Amino acid sequence: MNDHGMLIVVSGFSGAGKGTLMKELLKRYDNYALSISATTRKPREGEADGREYFFVTEEHFKEMIETDALIEYARYVNHYYGTPKEYVSNQMKMGKDVILEIEIQGALKVKEHFPEAILIFVMPPNAEELKRRLIGRGTESMEVINARLSRAAEEAEGMEKYDYILINNQVCTCVEEMHTMIQVQHNRASNNTEFLSHIREELKNIKS
Ligand code: 5GP
Repeated sequence: MNDHGMLIVVSGFSGAGKGTLMKELLKRYDNYALSISATTRKPREGEADGREYFFVTEEHFKEMIETDALIEYARYVNHYYGTPKEYVSNQMKMGKDVILEIEIQGALKVKEHFPEAILIFVMPPNAEELKRRLIGRGTESMEVINARLSRAAEEAEGMEKYDYILINNQVCTCVEEMHTMIQVQHNRASNNTEFLSHIREELKNIKS
């Protein structure tokens, strides 16, 4: 089978619990690498530069766009967010499945450039739960929470474009479901074209 890693795009409404899911997935399995995005938003309390994000100025971000250093980028509630190319391609070459935790515009750009990528949309069991989680996090003002809830309603329009949706009821079962989705994607015939050609060649040689 192909030995290079895959791109896994995980989106979901702000507050859907993606962060916790990702942490748990990385803890349980060692075939994943989490891409660290660049952003122009300010760090939240407890976030560190180079760990949650690379926190950069708008000028620096624009330079990254111009030098083609990003796989994709988007604006989200007044800030830029983007995926640096280098880390992602190095990790994939090393056989890691690289997770991009990004919003919908970026996700669709990734699918356009890398059709073999798997797009997963994580959502809370219902909208009330989403609001409760956003408020409970206590890191944003009510104004920002409302802007993020409006954005969630917008993003909900594009959910059908994802390959899978994942309801985040319980972290432990959700992590296993996500791992299974990714493993299944590895086995798709269209993701194993090199391996299939190889087998075809071998079969031809056996006959002659
Ligand atoms: P937050 O400010 O809550 O950390 O992130 C806001 C939104 O930006 C989330 O939906 C998150 O998934 C998304 N995001 C984070 N990094 C990137 C990125 O590199 N590209 C894109 N397109 N979205 C990102």
